[in-house]
Amino acid sequence: MAELLKGAAVAAALAEASGKKAAELEARGVKPTLAIVRVGENPDDIFYERSAGKKCAASGVAVRNVILPADCEQAAALGAIESLNGDGSIHGVLILRPLPKHIDDDAIRNALSPAKDVDGITDASLAGVLTGKDSGFAPCTARACIETLDFYGIKPEGKRVVVVGRSLVVGKPLAMLLVNRHATVTICHTRTKGLPSVCRGAEILVAAAGRAGMIGREFLSEGQTVIDVGINVTENGVCGDVSGADEIAAAYTPVPGGIGTVTSALLVSHVVEAARRSL
Ligand code: NDP
Repeated sequence: MAELLKGAAVAAALAEASGKKAAELEARGVKPTLAIVRVGENPDDIFYERSAGKKCAASGVAVRNVILPADCEQAAALGAIESLNGDGSIHGVLILRPLPKHIDDDAIRNALSPAKDVDGITDASLAGVLTGKDSGFAPCTARACIETLDFYGIKPEGKRVVVVGRSLVVGKPLAMLLVNRHATVTICHTRTKGLPSVCRGAEILVAAAGRAGMIGREFLSEGQTVIDVGINVTENGVCGDVSGADEIAAAYTPVPGGIGTVTSALLVSHVVEAARRSL
């Protein structure tokens, strides 16, 4: 029977630690505060904004919502980011993306001060992940995978790890975090040949493709740990990229209730850490 690596237990431990640290900071006169920047009225963004707000509140982290109209000009969006950069009462900034198409995503994300980049979206933060320096913040989802492995005592060191997906949000930074933890990492994508066999050879398999159930039984082998990052909304509800891990793998993360749960807890913990560093 495969071990279920539930995200709730990992998230609870992170939230408890964040709550304690936030209370200590508040006693020293610093209230950790996250600004959430939303452009437009996308229902998914609004849902995420509310859910992040609740997670922050539960750990004693304040939230300021910055809402810009869907047709706001690039200069106005840049102005909002620059104003948050200069605001000493804001410790972390989360920009809900994708942004509307008329706004230059690269310009906006790189305008953010790396010290406040709690979701690791700036090039400077990604460079920190690449160099292995602990000065900035890694993207929360990538780090959520590492936190989950750590929590359940699964060591990447020396292991063959396959990551399916090479985005800057998940695949590439996660591969680097794993290399920094001494894993031997293969990054796969749509041009990878013989993907099922490459995946079968992994001791730890991470699926971050965003394709419902694409990692089926022929991609899996006994003894594997399977980390399913995918969040796919289908007519049957939300599911991950992997199917069949419960019958074949040694351990796997569920969807929902896996990496996504840990990701939001990590965002809160990054805000608290950013507040601590601001002292
Ligand atoms: P992207 O669409 O940016 O990247 C997907 C990657 O998967 C690409 O590198 C793509 O390859 C690769 N890929 C897609 N299909 C295949 C395939 N058939 N075979 C091999 N590789 C494939 O997605 P994201 O990285 O942003 O997100 C990935 C998933 O993670 C999504 O389901 C998303 O919802 C989820 N997610 C979950 C989060 C969480 O909190 N749990 C947070 C962020 C994302 P190529 O580069 O060649 O196109």
